[in-house]
Amino acid sequence: MEPSADKLRGLRITSLDDDEEDDEPELPHQPLPAAAVDYDDDDDEEEEAEVMLGLLEEPKRPGLLLRHLFPSKAGGIPAWLDPANLPSGNSSCCGFCGEPLHFVLQIYAPIGDNEAATFHRTLFMFMCPSMECLHRDQHEQWTRKQGNPRRSVKVFRCQLPRSNAFYSSEPPKHNNSDKPLCAGAALCHWCGTWKGDKICGSCKKSRYCSEKHQALHWRSGHKNDCLQMINSSEASSSVLPAVGKVPARASWPEYKITIDYEADSDSDSCDGDESNSKSLVMQKHSKPDDLMQSWMDQFEADADNQCWAYFQERISRTPTQVLRYCREQNAKPLWALSAGRPSNADIPSCGYCKGPLCYEFQIMPQLLYFFGVKNEPDSLDWATIVVYTCQGSCDQNISYKEEFAWVQLYPTAPSRP
Ligand SMILES: [Zn+2]
Ligand SMILES: [Zn+2]
Ligand SMILES: [Zn+2]
Ligand SMILES: [Zn+2]
Repeated sequence: MEPSADKLRGLRITSLDDDEEDDEPELPHQPLPAAAVDYDDDDDEEEEAEVMLGLLEEPKRPGLLLRHLFPSKAGGIPAWLDPANLPSGNSSCCGFCGEPLHFVLQIYAPIGDNEAATFHRTLFMFMCPSMECLHRDQHEQWTRKQGNPRRSVKVFRCQLPRSNAFYSSEPPKHNNSDKPLCAGAALCHWCGTWKGDKICGSCKKSRYCSEKHQALHWRSGHKNDCLQMINSSEASSSVLPAVGKVPARASWPEYKITIDYEADSDSDSCDGDESNSKSLVMQKHSKPDDLMQSWMDQFEADADNQCWAYFQERISRTPTQVLRYCREQNAKPLWALSAGRPSNADIPSCGYCKGPLCYEFQIMPQLLYFFGVKNEPDSLDWATIVVYTCQGSCDQNISYKEEFAWVQLYPTAPSRP
């Protein structure tokens, strides 16, 4: 490999925050698995794949999580890899309530070498913040047919070759000189997430992804700003919020995702044995112990008790994990419950190349704690959400390819009609 390629590879795998030690393992640049992945958890005989854990850190300063730095991040607004051809229309909305989806997280997970179409590769997850919609989504999982299922959770895969229209083929220098090669699509002034295709009829300046966000912006101050913008054309740009400075209520709090390897079960004593289960409870958006006990009581089946105990043991090794990632051939998701797992037949094939999907990552309930989601009856909650992606990471014409998410909820989560 020529030196410049080595340099690029070296930089890509480490933290984007240049004042940190280069001690974060990379998401894998490994050859694609050769055979289909076995989704069945029952066989514990084979060697376990090494799991990478996503942990959250508040960004040390602004500007570290921008798209030309290829971040992995949670909350805030997405750093779109392809900034021009964003998902739009129905793709950006909840299939149940029709509202624009909230950005959950994105993972920079390139595959392959300098020649690969997946030299840059990022997975983006979005979700409707309504628990009612998540219930309906989970319910429809079991009746879902291939085609056009309604979803309240969506995952998109975007990938670019090293040489592309949006970014330098040289690695970012992290010295404030890095810039994308071109501006992206104009974004919604309310959510900063989706394309701002709709323009305010009065000022003809403010842009929105949806009528809902236009109405929210209007009520929260644009009503006054709009007049001001009409009357003074010079002031107009300063009145609109910079996209990227999204009102906190329009998004979840922003974090940088750092990656760590999961410890072996032998080494979990370093976390402090007696505090493990307690810290898990604390992290699960501060659910009290008695609520945890009530879940346990509900899991009458031995299978669920065993599954839950195993789930707890794995999480207790690093209680703050919000994400588990492994794209190895023998990788398996970690299920909280034995009920509510998909069979092989429940996992569709790739909607683009028709090839198989394989497990790539899952998000954990601890994410809700970091997002400040309250523990109320109709608050968002999940046991885990598992994401399956195209095994071949196919490269079709569409920039954002929708992948498949499987939602596992706690059986005691309240259900509403
Ligand atoms: Zn919804
Ligand atoms: Zn919007
Ligand atoms: Zn206006
Ligand atoms: Zn595919």
